[in-house]
Amino acid sequence: MILLDGKQTAADIKDEIALEVDKIRLNKGKIPHLAAIIVGADGASLTYVNSKVKACKKVGFNSSLIELPIDITEEQLLHEVHLLNKDVTIDGYIVQLPLPDHIDEDLILMAVDPNKDVDGFHPTNVGKMTLELPTFLPATPYGIMELLERYKIETSGKDVVVIGRSHIVGRPMSILLSQKREYGNATVTLVHSRTKNIKEITKKADIIVVALGVAEFLTGDMVKKGVTIIDVGITRLEDKTRKRGYRLVGDVHFESVSKKASYITPVPGGVGPMTIAMLLKNTLLANRKFNS
Ligand code: NAP
Repeated sequence: MILLDGKQTAADIKDEIALEVDKIRLNKGKIPHLAAIIVGADGASLTYVNSKVKACKKVGFNSSLIELPIDITEEQLLHEVHLLNKDVTIDGYIVQLPLPDHIDEDLILMAVDPNKDVDGFHPTNVGKMTLELPTFLPATPYGIMELLERYKIETSGKDVVVIGRSHIVGRPMSILLSQKREYGNATVTLVHSRTKNIKEITKKADIIVVALGVAEFLTGDMVKKGVTIIDVGITRLEDKTRKRGYRLVGDVHFESVSKKASYITPVPGGVGPMTIAMLLKNTLLANRKFNS
């Protein structure tokens, strides 16, 4: 069994990005600038946003964190989004999800300028991705594609099962893997909460991407020997033996599944760090218009 080391791969990608930033600086170009909006600083979201800001510093990007109160109105939030759209110093930005219930998430995401949408969530960018046109790929699926590529995991003609059909992970993952592209060309089955006999389907799969948000859902008896496992899930489970009071687990029961897998991503240290690295890569892409 080989661990797909997202932490190391992400570090390699960040080193490559840092070199690009050095070149930009040397040529007196515009340094990439990523901004993040966070509404109501709940624990997990703030941790994610802070790690994104930290990653920006590591590669030499500028970064801005816009912290807004939980009771902000939809109108006020839209105003903040429009300010970022107009701000020429910002190359790309993200709106950290989830947003509070009183705010229409789709409305906010649609207000983001597609040219600054480094999360790749805007319908324009989703459409371009679907049509195989150059665009910002959503960071998590992009990170998974990059991991498959860097570990040279053959996908062509393979049976792939994606568990979960969210707009940000499962659905785009199923689209990318089924496309006529390198590290695509797979036969993809997308399963979700209404799927019957998931085990019958996963047992036939060569590659399984697990993104449903149910801790340790996929167990060893659900997979065949030699399978490649990409575990996207992150759940905080209370753990009083840990200083921070919780531990992170994925959607895969690592102990039983890793015994049968050829390749598997750990949690933490698998898909999570790759997501951040690809967000930086998208920001670099957004910045190209100034430096090419
Ligand atoms: P989501 O929006 O909640 O979607 C979950 C999907 O899983 C839905 O399609 C749902 O089906 C399906 N599902 C739920 N329970 C199921 C079950 N028992 N059997 C089969 N399908 C089931 O989740 P998400 O945003 O994609 O996130 C999934 C997980 O990945 C979460 O743990 C999240 O924290 C993590 N995540 C990690 C990263 C990273 O960078 N590592 C990034 C994003 C998300 P229906 O459509 O039928 O409801």
